[in-house]
Amino acid sequence: IKIILSCTFVAFLAIRWTSNFDAESLRGAKVLVTGSSKGIGEQMAYHYARFGAKIVITARSKDTLQKVVEKCLSLGAQEAFYIAADMSNESDLDRVVDFALKKLGGLDYLVLNHIGSTRVAMWDGDVEHAKWLMKINFFSYIQMAWKALPSLEKNKGSLVIVSSLAGKMPSPLTAPYVSTKSALNGFFGSLRHELAMKKSNVSISVCTLGLIDTETAMSKIKGKVNMPAYPATEAALNIIITGATRQPELYYPWFTYIWTLTKDWIPSFTDYVVQHSFNYNP
Ligand code: NDP
Repeated sequence: IKIILSCTFVAFLAIRWTSNFDAESLRGAKVLVTGSSKGIGEQMAYHYARFGAKIVITARSKDTLQKVVEKCLSLGAQEAFYIAADMSNESDLDRVVDFALKKLGGLDYLVLNHIGSTRVAMWDGDVEHAKWLMKINFFSYIQMAWKALPSLEKNKGSLVIVSSLAGKMPSPLTAPYVSTKSALNGFFGSLRHELAMKKSNVSISVCTLGLIDTETAMSKIKGKVNMPAYPATEAALNIIITGATRQPELYYPWFTYIWTLTKDWIPSFTDYVVQHSFNYNP
């Protein structure tokens, strides 16, 4: 009964926020999307372009970014710029936000989406890797968000954080990645309270994604995970709608929400399913 009620509630919410979405609100919107040379970030850039937004995209590979910018302009972006940057490099973080503020004349949306590369493997004690990943997947997010806040505040803007089901419900073989996503959920959950208490204009949307069919994810999990993967372009659109409608959370696909409930209701069943979703023979 609990599961049926939850499904109905989620379906109700999904219909409500989708119907509230006004695509016109994104025409001319000033958007910075990180990790946008490929995968979900690239797809977000194309959706924003189709909605007629003004976009800055960033990642490390200049050549790929240039191609994505060209496609964004052909799809209808009012303006599109790129800046190559490495999110493990502290000085690049302010440089990227400053570039976007200058090129676009402010920001309406900061979409934090990039991640550093990590292995899908049992934890092997590599603390240096965990620290490095935390720098890219977590510390860069909080630094960039802080830098962009004054402009977002001025424009009644939105911070959109791309997180993962792994951040709500730990999965095996990805302990450093799981830690970075849990940290994001905690930090931005806390910041959301603080902004509300300060009566801030800025909304925060934290997006919980299940497995998405990006090239990176598919190559990393090949032969290791038995789970369906969902389309990156649809995940990207759902993230954009969640930000535009100022919803605090997204669960995509919808049943990821159910998993976050079952882990507390029926933990031993959930543990069994999680552990048996991975192929591992000691
Ligand atoms: P991809 O690996 O496809 O893309 C990652 C992006 O980040 C690329 O543009 C990459 O470009 C950039 N990037 C990587 N390292 C750095 C760095 N050091 N500095 C700056 N940019 C960097 O990732 P996905 O599209 O699969 O994932 C996007 C988001 O969705 C992530 O936050 C991920 O956690 C989340 N997510 C994804 C899931 C999935 O199954 N795909 C599931 C759940 C959540 P470049 O290499 O050129 O720098």
